[in-house]
Amino acid sequence: MSRTIGIDLGTTNSVAAVIGDNGRPYVLEYGGERIVPSVVAVDDQGKLLVGKEAKHYLPLDPDNAVRSVKRAMGGTESFSLRGQAYSPQQISALILRKLRSLAEEALGEPVERAVITVPAYFTDQQRIATREAGELAGLEVVRIINEPTAAALAYGADRDDGQRILVYDLGGGTFDVSLVQVEGGLVEVLATAGNNRLGGDDFDQRLVDYVSDRFEREHDYNLRENKRAIARLTAAAEEAKIHLSDFPFARIRADFIATVEEKPLHLDQELSRARFEELIKDLLADTMSCIDQVLNDANCTPKQIDKVLLVGGSTRIPAVRELIADHLGIDPAGDIHPDECVALGAAVQAAIIDGLDVDSVLVDVTAHSLGVAARIPGGYLEEYHSVIIPRNTVIPTVKAEVYRPSYDYQETVQIRIYQGENPVASENELLGQFDLTDLPQRPAAEVDIVVTFSMNVDGILQVTAEERSTGRSADITVRDMRAKMSAHEKTMAESAVNRLWDTQGAGSKSTRALIERARQVVEEMEEEEIKDEIIAVVKEIKVLLSEPDYDEDELGRLEDELLDLLEDD
Ligand code: AMP
Repeated sequence: MSRTIGIDLGTTNSVAAVIGDNGRPYVLEYGGERIVPSVVAVDDQGKLLVGKEAKHYLPLDPDNAVRSVKRAMGGTESFSLRGQAYSPQQISALILRKLRSLAEEALGEPVERAVITVPAYFTDQQRIATREAGELAGLEVVRIINEPTAAALAYGADRDDGQRILVYDLGGGTFDVSLVQVEGGLVEVLATAGNNRLGGDDFDQRLVDYVSDRFEREHDYNLRENKRAIARLTAAAEEAKIHLSDFPFARIRADFIATVEEKPLHLDQELSRARFEELIKDLLADTMSCIDQVLNDANCTPKQIDKVLLVGGSTRIPAVRELIADHLGIDPAGDIHPDECVALGAAVQAAIIDGLDVDSVLVDVTAHSLGVAARIPGGYLEEYHSVIIPRNTVIPTVKAEVYRPSYDYQETVQIRIYQGENPVASENELLGQFDLTDLPQRPAAEVDIVVTFSMNVDGILQVTAEERSTGRSADITVRDMRAKMSAHEKTMAESAVNRLWDTQGAGSKSTRALIERARQVVEEMEEEEIKDEIIAVVKEIKVLLSEPDYDEDELGRLEDELLDLLEDD
């Protein structure tokens, strides 16, 4: 019997996955394709295009292309491609057929069975239509499962009974949030809410409106009245939006976007991440209300949530993660591939049905946060650790942030790279430093220095600093970060021990003598357990003494406890 595959049939993109011989799920890939855009088109030669080719064709001839068909599933709408009518099931079947053939090429064997995911809010009608689409594609649909359930399964949630996981799924055209609970190895959806008309497409649209307005002011030409121009601008806007997830600025360019009196007009605008975040702020705020609704429906408080999973391409926008962390007081899990985990979970479900052994997804992540020393203008004196790649980011990764010099007409900035979690830069491990010289002689507010961190799969970090107006740059490559970190941790641990025995200013003469005696005993002692107990009591004493009005009785009690331990020796 051939293997059953898992399919995430998405509004914007679709993905197929399977369990490997090592029991871990992986995404099927063939000829460089792993994510198949859910777009179908028929070109002017009558050729059927599915996936990437159809997505590229769409801006050229939007009338003969279909996207977001998932929204129409279970309904009676039909789609016309070069005069021929297609039902939503037929369009979805073409996408599934494409995934099936990609899977067959990748596996080198026929594929006949699949588990397909659907949103938790899908009605029976919509589930039946999805099953029909699978059958039209020649697949036996062994099960339809909910997307949040699949996301939780990908991370081995079924092995942790009682866990409550919030799955926040923001894709291209839809948003939903679900609270799932693991009970007896089964993942159950407790509550779900969302908006199936909200997603990355709306963010693109906000950018299109913003850029069109600017263009109209500049050229007195309304791009909105030109369908082809808008299709091209939409594609450029999406590209810029994706760029802004990792970089502080992006360029939106489209040459020859329109012609006025035989003169060509070119689009070339720059956009900052801050501006983009401002443009979509209200849409992201709406998603927070949905989280509240789900928690309310499930009678659950943020404190009762064990884990937050981010699913869907749009959750790569840094503001999404920040907003959720602020709203719930929980950092969403970073060790997940937002655009692949639903398919991976469907593959896990497929393998469970096939009776295979399964393991959860393994992803390579950064063990510590990486950043640079920076100063808040006019703010406090100590330099803070400005994190560029947060801990637990999936690698490889590239991320950039923008900084300003500390004062006007500064000639050189020093870039110091740190690794660690302490908010004070110097308390972390210094990985390297370099200077960016010959800065343009201007006020600090007019000098943008873009610092880019790029980490490859081997954990080698490349750091580049570039002054934007001149393009002048400098860089450094950092290797052996793990070794550096353990050396740093050792030094920190040693200095903590030294501070522990440091009795300067620690209470009365008799207390200091007692601590000194404890130090000598610990140095000579062999039994680790008693040593640890002694150290723990000394720590408690030092913490107590650091309080302005410490409780004398409490000190007496701790000193007695320490004496007992020392006398036992
Ligand atoms: P999905 O439906 O989950 O495949 O998500 C597709 C949506 O995610 C589209 O609107 C993409 O433009 C968007 N997307 C993909 N990657 C990123 C990214 N790095 N930053 C922001 N949006 C992204």
